[in-house]
Formats: sequence, C-alpha cells, structure tokens
Amino acid sequence: MRAEVVSVGTELLLGQIVDTNAAYLGRALSEVGVAVYHRTTVGDNRARLVAALREALDAADVVFTIGGLGPTQDDITRDALSEATGIPLALNEGIARELQEFLRARGAEILNSQLRQAYVPVRGWHLPNPNGTAPGLVFELPSKLAIALPGPPGEFIPMLEHAALPILRQRTGTATIRSRVLRVCGMGEAAVEDRVLDLMASDNPTVAPYAKTGEVHLRVTARGDNGEEADALAAPIIAEIQRRLGDHLYAYDDEPLEAAVVRALIERRQTVATAESCTGGMLAGRITDVPGSSAAFPGGVVAYSNGLKVAMLGVRDETLRSHGAVSREVAMAMASGVRERVGADYGIGITGVAGPDGGSEDKPVGLVYIALADPDAVDVTENRYRGIRSDVRLRATQTALTMLRDRLLLSA
Ligand code: ATP
Ligand code: MG
Repeated sequence: MRAEVVSVGTELLLGQIVDTNAAYLGRALSEVGVAVYHRTTVGDNRARLVAALREALDAADVVFTIGGLGPTQDDITRDALSEATGIPLALNEGIARELQEFLRARGAEILNSQLRQAYVPVRGWHLPNPNGTAPGLVFELPSKLAIALPGPPGEFIPMLEHAALPILRQRTGTATIRSRVLRVCGMGEAAVEDRVLDLMASDNPTVAPYAKTGEVHLRVTARGDNGEEADALAAPIIAEIQRRLGDHLYAYDDEPLEAAVVRALIERRQTVATAESCTGGMLAGRITDVPGSSAAFPGGVVAYSNGLKVAMLGVRDETLRSHGAVSREVAMAMASGVRERVGADYGIGITGVAGPDGGSEDKPVGLVYIALADPDAVDVTENRYRGIRSDVRLRATQTALTMLRDRLLLSA
C-alpha cells in the first residue's frame, strides 16, 4: 500500500510551526507497512490544495491530509477534498447536535462557520474527535481512501492511533517495515559507502548511508509480512556490515557516541577528565548528558584564557609563549595537566581556532589540536575542520570522543 501526505497550512510554509505531525505520521505508517512516496505542504489556498490533492490521489492508495478542518475561513481542507474527490458533503445531524450541545454548555450559540465541521462526505465516514470539535473525515473512492486529520497534535495523534491506523492495519494485515541505524565513527561518508556499496543495491532490505557531523549513519530498512520476518531479512545484512566496518561501528539506533564511550569507560572501571579551550565545555556537556556518567567522569576545566591554562592546568608560560595557545604542545600540556590534577585515567586537551575570526595563515580557522593523555603517553592530533563555528566545535568533541574510544578498544 502506497501513501501520500499533504500538510495544509501557510504557517508551515512560513516556518512558523514545524510539521511534527507529518514526521509522526511517517514513523507510524512505516510501522504498519505502508510506504510513503511523497509528502507535500500547501498553504491555505483552495486551488493549490485541490491541485496537490488530485496529484496525490492519482499516485497513492491512501492520501492523508493534516490540518485545516476547523471552523475558520482558512480551514479549507474539507471543501478541497470534496472537490478533488468529486464526493459531495452532507450535513450530519448527529455531529451538528453534539456541536450545538458542546457550545450551549459553554453559553454560546452555534455559528454558521462552526456548523461547517458537521459536514461529512456522502461516500465515506467520519472519525470521532474526543479532544476537539472537528471530526476526522474519510473519503472513499472505488480503490482508494483520503483520510483528513485535524492539525493540533493533541487531536491529531490520538485520532491517528485510535481511528486511522486501525483502518490501514485492516487492509495491510501484519505487514511491517523495520529500520535499524548503524552508527559509524572515525570514517568519512565516502569511505563507508565504498565498503558497503554492493549491499546498497539490495531492494529489501535497503541500505542507505547518511552523513552526520563527524560521523556516518547507515540505515538498514526491511519490509516483511510481520516484524519477525522483517528482522530476519535484515539480520544477515547487519551482520555483514558489522564484519566490514569492524570497530568503526560504535552503536545502534539512538545511542550517541558519548554514551558508547561512557559505557566503555564504565566497563573498564576507568575515568576521563577534560580540559577545553575552544569547545568551552561542550565535551564535558556531551559526557554529562549520559545518565550514569559520574562513574566515568570526575569533571573538567574550561580554560579559555592563557592565564587559566597556567593556573588551573599547569601549562607552562614558556610553552604558551614559544608555541602559542593553539599548538600541539599546549594541547598535550592541557591533557596531562588535567589528568594529573583530577587523578583520572585519561585526560583530554582541546585547543583550536573555532572562528569566524582569529585565524591566521599558519593557524587558520578550523585548526584544532586534540591531545589524549594516559599514564604512559600523550597523543595529539592536528585537525583541520571545515564549516562554521558550531561545526568546528562539534567536530572537535567528536574527534576527542573517537580518540578516547580507539584508545579504550586498544586497551581491551
Ligand atoms: P483547528 O480546529 O484548531 O483550527 P485544524 O484542523 O483546522 O484545527 P489547523 O488550523 O491547520 O488545524 O492548525 C491548528 C493548529 O494545529 C496550528 O496552529 C498548529 O499549532 C497545529 N498544527 C497544524 N498543523 C500541524 C502540523 N502539521 N504539525 C504540528 N502542528 C500542527
Ligand atoms: Mg484551523
């Protein structure tokens, strides 16, 4: 079964609200095995909405609309669906009476505009809305359905879950689409793709890479007649990817890199301390985002100024003077300084030029030195990141976590 989604509302086009309902709907449809082929957003304009609905109805077995079912002038979805499907609307006495009673209980008389919400398609049916006044609508064409749901998420989500999805489940049986995300660090997107290129030709499951800041995600999506069948189709492909990517594969689904690193530290009963200049505590922030990180992270220092690098981390004046604050030597002194002073197993030092200003010919924007100290040695990497300030900072924390993870794997 193929679906298309049409979100209605000028607010969506102007970016005043984000289409969280469509995202929710996409996830829900994949779980019941319905493939979403297109998603369209249209403003509150009847002609454009009718055109978009006709196109969607041509292509899909089921078309969902989101929003525009209310009583006001800009709520045009009901009329547009009637025009696009050719199915007239008729007053439903029951809904009209309920509306009247609802308003009377609040001391108001029903307005004509409000009565529009009591009109339903003559071929089809309506979906009750226990959380609002506008019912959902189902327009029934010979071989397809159009399902109109209200915009407010507090009405949309319950109606989707309790009324709309059961209609589809009845038609699709137990068919399911399952996705897993394999998270990869320490490798670029092209290199990851190169290793799994032949697997990407598969149609079921599908394998697709997504570049994220400082890491790559591989999504494996399998379709099956039920959940177990989908999982069984995906399992050998996932195992093959594991084999090819080895330790670069750091976690699955929603576990971020910092959580995988904290998990590895806790398993080894080890700790890390951080000394950050250009990342300003972002690394410590990511680590402490992980529940239970106190077992692995005693703390860190944000040492932005030279003075603080000396006073808090024991970096020598002489080192700062002869190499500059952004240098291998200072990153190494920060890492070993924080490790010793905190008494941690590992110390990380980060110093660099995040930009947009402050770069020079030999120390350009994006240059970041990251050092990792353990009891025996201090390693340092020179990184040249592209992108705006926030990218440079995030990438630096990503590299730092990857370096620590590599070290932990070596010591395993
Ligand atoms: P109402 O009866 O409240 O007018 P409606 O079905 O006509 O409901 P809209 O008028 O399109 O829906 O939107 C009402 C509100 O619902 C919006 O102001 C917005 O806050 C929220 N909303 C609408 N569409 C979406 C969407 N796609 N995702 C998230 N929120 C939405
Ligand atoms: Mg409205």
